[in-house]
Amino acid sequence: MKFHPTFKTGAMATALLLAFATTVQAGTGPTTISERARAIQAKAINLDTHLDTPALFSRPGWKISDRHSFEQDGSQIDYPRMVEGGLDGGFWVVFTSQGERDAQGDLKARDAGLKRLSEIREMVAANADKFELATTADDAARIKAAGKKSVYISMENAYPLEHDPSLLSFYYKQGLRMISLAHISHNDFADSAGMGVAPEGEHGGLSDKGKAMIAEANRLGIILDQSHASNTVFDQMLALSKAPIILSHSGAYDVFAHSRNIDDARIRALASKGGVIQVNSLGGYLIDTGATPEYREEMRKVYAAFGGQRRLSDAERAQAKAKIAELDRKHGIRTADFDDYMRHLLHIIEVAGWEHVGLGADWDGGGGVEGYEDITALPKVVQALLDAGYDERQIGGILGGNTVRLIREVQALADPEAVKAALE
Ligand SMILES: [Zn+2]
Repeated sequence: MKFHPTFKTGAMATALLLAFATTVQAGTGPTTISERARAIQAKAINLDTHLDTPALFSRPGWKISDRHSFEQDGSQIDYPRMVEGGLDGGFWVVFTSQGERDAQGDLKARDAGLKRLSEIREMVAANADKFELATTADDAARIKAAGKKSVYISMENAYPLEHDPSLLSFYYKQGLRMISLAHISHNDFADSAGMGVAPEGEHGGLSDKGKAMIAEANRLGIILDQSHASNTVFDQMLALSKAPIILSHSGAYDVFAHSRNIDDARIRALASKGGVIQVNSLGGYLIDTGATPEYREEMRKVYAAFGGQRRLSDAERAQAKAKIAELDRKHGIRTADFDDYMRHLLHIIEVAGWEHVGLGADWDGGGGVEGYEDITALPKVVQALLDAGYDERQIGGILGGNTVRLIREVQALADPEAVKAALE
């Protein structure tokens, strides 16, 4: 065997790379961001369509205007980090986890939804120099030009509307512009996709109440979000909705077969009707982490021992993290990284076409992977898209232009009389 003359140089390069690998982990994405990537991002409107950060607004002592660290308190979005990462805003979520579907449960959900809605509005009012409520497509660019971050409001899980669906018009008046029907279990509106393997449906997709909600959302120009709902709901929503729909935080089933992800045929159907899919960064939906029901149960117990995941003090969080690292080792759990995220994103761009893709990383809702831990890492996506050969126009669309187009289209198809009546 004859060695190539450059073998020596090659070996040196390998040795250097190995040395480098001890400080930079494989799969964690670009290590430097080019001037071109920075310039593209600065010009684009950067919107994430699924920010679960409002769940933190009631955490004692937590302020969006302060800089936090993911390492210390587990949070992924705040104003200083949005500035650093170049995020111009997005859809801030009124999320309610699914509970009992009886009269008492429905009332509790109604109140929880209204409370979260007012927390979002209060955050904007208390930080009027940094944030502004956004309700139309043009607001995104206007608010960015004014040097502020846009706050569109969305609802994840329509459970708060089970008691009284007509509350939707009140939410609309308060700024709601996007809604998903179900979360990780079925509710009165729709069947859920579940958490891994799709469960048997309850309504055969949408219930009559769910179908009525679709018609009402269309009338008001509220974007319909299919994320978390079943495949049958996807098919029915796409057929029934007069306006294009969104998947505010979803991944590719053909990359990883998880019931929360959507298959290529449906991605193509979504795009053919003008819809947009926003790619999620929740590790358990990106790769097979090897998590078993026993592992999940043990993890749940770790958090339960501290009184729940959201209520941890920094010290408790550190203790919980150490316990979970131990559990991960015991169960041989794999963690997803930036490359895994990009695999889904690039696949979806390929299948849908770049005009139908965006970002919905599920920050503060379980999203984030190694090398993409919080919003400060957003420029890495821009660099990775450039490295993959996408140009300024395409990247601008993916960062937020496509979402703005969708808002415009959905609102243009609304019934002006219904909008007028709701705003009165
Ligand atoms: Zn979600």
